[in-house]
Amino acid sequence: MPVFSPRALDSVTRLIARRMGSDEAEAAEVADHLVRANLAGHDSHGVGMLPRYVELFHDGLLVPNQTPVIVSDTGAVLVIDARRGCGQHMANDAVRRAIARARDIGACVLALRNASHIGRIGTYAELAADAGCAFTAFVNVADHHDIQATWQAAEPRLGTNPFCAAVPGPDGEPVLLDMATTTIAAGKARVAYNKGVPVADGCLIDAEGAPTNDPTGFIRDHTGALRAFGAHKGSGLAVMCEIMAAAVAGGQGAFAPPKGGILNSMLATVIDLSKLGDPAAITGDVGAVTAYVKSARPAPGYDDVLVPGEPERRHAVERAERGIEVDGTTWRDIRAAAESLGISAAEFDQAAAG
Ligand code: NAD
Repeated sequence: MPVFSPRALDSVTRLIARRMGSDEAEAAEVADHLVRANLAGHDSHGVGMLPRYVELFHDGLLVPNQTPVIVSDTGAVLVIDARRGCGQHMANDAVRRAIARARDIGACVLALRNASHIGRIGTYAELAADAGCAFTAFVNVADHHDIQATWQAAEPRLGTNPFCAAVPGPDGEPVLLDMATTTIAAGKARVAYNKGVPVADGCLIDAEGAPTNDPTGFIRDHTGALRAFGAHKGSGLAVMCEIMAAAVAGGQGAFAPPKGGILNSMLATVIDLSKLGDPAAITGDVGAVTAYVKSARPAPGYDDVLVPGEPERRHAVERAERGIEVDGTTWRDIRAAAESLGISAAEFDQAAAG
């Protein structure tokens, strides 16, 4: 599989985002986000999303350089409508505002509505944790055909509705849980399809509701569904993400007729640790919890016990050294997307050379 440096993928992403109309700053945010997702090991939310973003742009369902609307700002509660703006920029901007508010008055509840795909939610959690804040987010996915089958359902009714929670830990490393409420994120089925490999047991059902390992129907024909993780409990969390993001935060719901876009809405909380107590003592206690959890004897087949956030940090170290693999199908799709924006092969190759 071809291997690229983070710098090369960053240049290609900037070139494509700029050609879609993003200004330099927005293009840089998209590139930083996608490449960091690849580095974290989440190829589902890395540069492989570019062809989809370009499609959304051509269809008028992703609006570069959008100006978000502050729907209401009542101190502790901030409501922002992103109006299909480029998700990475819209979510960065909204979370930065929420962090500033939390620093000012202690906490902020952020309702972000209708951003185009905001990508890896953990990126925003890292932003908050780096600023000394605890972060939670209930996120939904709308404007897209349904892809998650909830518990006891033989067909989909929701998106992959991610949940995320993070808190700063000792040595500046946050404990960060960031996950789809489906057994795997949709992009992971796409990655498997592009690589021509099956997905793991228990992740997918086919059009009849029967278990399958073959992602072809799901990706190519839009049939079947991803299953909720953790039986009724993960499924319940998916439903609550939908309710928090669509009903409470007021974003578009999965029940609304889709136009074929990807809209993320999010109900997030940002809490400034310094308003709860001594941040050093709190992060020290976070470290005590993780050390205790990790002190358990590893189960057979495992070398150690990990806490949320550790796998991504390990991937990032490894991929920063070895480079990022992008499968041939994904790379061809990225090239074709660039071409559809009028980017010449020479321009593309020059960017890809880093
Ligand atoms: P995943 O199944 O890899 O789970 C990731 C979480 O589990 C992380 O917090 C990770 O640190 C933790 N984890 C993984 N292995 C672990 C281990 N061995 N021990 C302890 N903790 C471990 O991720 P996913 O569900 O496929 O989600 C991937 C990404 O997709 C996330 O970044 C998510 O935000 C993103 N996503 C985005 C959207 C969207 O619409 N924007 C929708 C769904 C998912």
